[in-house]
Amino acid sequence: MLIVDLSRLRDGSVETAGRLLPTDPAFEDVDFELVDPVTVEGRLQLTGEGDFYWHAFVAGRVRGECRRCLGDVFVPMDIEIRVLFSSDPETAEDPGVYPLGKGAAELDLGQAVCEELALAVPGFLVCGDDCAGLCSRCGANLNDGPCSCGKPAATV
Ligand SMILES: [Zn+2]
Ligand SMILES: [Zn+2]
Repeated sequence: MLIVDLSRLRDGSVETAGRLLPTDPAFEDVDFELVDPVTVEGRLQLTGEGDFYWHAFVAGRVRGECRRCLGDVFVPMDIEIRVLFSSDPETAEDPGVYPLGKGAAELDLGQAVCEELALAVPGFLVCGDDCAGLCSRCGANLNDGPCSCGKPAATV
């Protein structure tokens, strides 16, 4: 769980470390698939304006599909997050700012982890630069070798 009791920040900053399982509710609606627990390590700081600045490193692994051969591709994720949690309605449109209810007693970092991961997951994945893809005619995976319809002599 990555929920911080904000009363702990009266004196400045707190370490935030934790793990989020792929089954964590924070990841319920994402369109990527996590294969390992996500580890989070960072520091949450109270700013002069009463906002909370969070700097963290997030690591995990995502499974995607190769665009060429449709095979599994595992993508190591290692991202740095710098975000602000603010109850100031004027910052609501700012992409780097997460809204925080006025007088909130705690802060759930899971949502920010989830959204920052979603932004970082590459949209176009290939299992390797040399992936041969699928035969457009018979659908055979050409990484396993040439298919029979690929032979020049095999005209239909
Ligand atoms: Zn591939
Ligand atoms: Zn073929």
